[in-house]
Amino acid sequence: MKFEELKDIVRKAGIAGCGGAGFPAYAKLDKRADTIVLNCAECEPLFKVHRQVLEKYAYEICYALDVITKAVEAEQFIVAVKGEYKATVEAVNAVLPQFKNGKLSLLPEVYPAGDEVITIYETTGRVVPAGNIPISVGVTVFNVETVYNIYKAITDGEPVTHKFVTVAGEVKNPQTFYVPIGTTFEDLIKLCGGVTREDVRIINGGPMTGFFGTKYDVVKKNTNGILILPESNPVVARKDININVGVTRAKSSCCQCHMCTDLCPRNLLGQPIKPNEFMKAVLTGKQNDIPVLVDAMYCVSCGICEMYACMQGLHPRSLIAEFKMNMRAEGVKLTPHTKPGKVHSQREFRKVPMNRLKERLGLTIYDVEAPLVDDVVKPKKVKIMLSQHIGAPAKLAVKKGQHISVGEVVGECINDALCVGVNSSVKGKVVDANDKFVLVDVD
Ligand code: SF4
Ligand code: SF4
Repeated sequence: MKFEELKDIVRKAGIAGCGGAGFPAYAKLDKRADTIVLNCAECEPLFKVHRQVLEKYAYEICYALDVITKAVEAEQFIVAVKGEYKATVEAVNAVLPQFKNGKLSLLPEVYPAGDEVITIYETTGRVVPAGNIPISVGVTVFNVETVYNIYKAITDGEPVTHKFVTVAGEVKNPQTFYVPIGTTFEDLIKLCGGVTREDVRIINGGPMTGFFGTKYDVVKKNTNGILILPESNPVVARKDININVGVTRAKSSCCQCHMCTDLCPRNLLGQPIKPNEFMKAVLTGKQNDIPVLVDAMYCVSCGICEMYACMQGLHPRSLIAEFKMNMRAEGVKLTPHTKPGKVHSQREFRKVPMNRLKERLGLTIYDVEAPLVDDVVKPKKVKIMLSQHIGAPAKLAVKKGQHISVGEVVGECINDALCVGVNSSVKGKVVDANDKFVLVDVD
């Protein structure tokens, strides 16, 4: 398949990254890449979706990786998967010999192996300079389900309408479902048999990078899972932060022990981010320490500093995130470095083991299988958001009262912007439509 043809198919199918920020996949197809990496690190504790999808569709995913590799004229594709995911590794090994430019790379069971800059280092040994994207070192990284969606688009012309989602924590039967996009979290929880206790919070995403959600939130193209945790769980306590209180606590309790910086995965890869220095600027009131503040912009919110490293229970990640948001609002942009930093000599010994992380966050008891359920779920109603990706939202393309079918365009792609279209995930009647979402009663 030709490069432009693939790019066009991927864009028309509305494919955006099925995790993280939901970057439009067509915009990642780049002929400067010599290596395509499939990211199956799945390092958010308790989530199983990536490894399950790769195990089930190993051939289809490797087939699509092969098509991408050839279309962008790269030399190879690498399937990066944790050695711990034995069934997935077995499934990949069974099909990989059919693809002569594909190979397997086993990742360690640490957090955050799935930060793409870390995945690239672990699989290729290349270090992405701070503030740059993977293509700066000749690599493009794709999420497992994104590549599965590319497979469906290139073989059947199928647009993105459904999403694999793990539901874990305090529910009767933790499972992974294949649901129409726009399904509410309330419906997902019901599918698991309901919650097992009343005093729970819903986390949209994983324990490390997710954020509080409600039962009215809906599945989007980048929803990998939701987590139901009791109010008393350490994850809830650490996420439940008031920024002003966080600043006061930093001023009174940060002892400058340096642990947050010692364990910061980006710092260990030679990037200039130093959370302890940022906290020092907060606690001393030296918010004009420009180099420290500029370096804080390289934080990727992995959460290691505040969810694991800081023994005082402080919130370097959240304070940095607030600072970054304010800087962006002022138009301050990240300056890309031209050269990679020096990888820390102690990096190998400072990786955070997953079991230790789960234990510290009180998650070990929830680490159960969450099997992938084959049946496609049919909710009564779906709310399909027009912005499910980074870039410009899709433009409303349906009217209230209109009958629509599965796959029909409900949000048009804006061609001269970073954007992908949005397709209906169900057959039904549009009961509300505006520039934010389309609400559909399912037939
Ligand atoms: S780990 Fe906590 S106490 Fe230590 S320097 Fe970082 S924020 Fe301060
Ligand atoms: S969240 Fe903390 S540990 Fe992670 S990159 Fe930012 S400063 Fe480093």
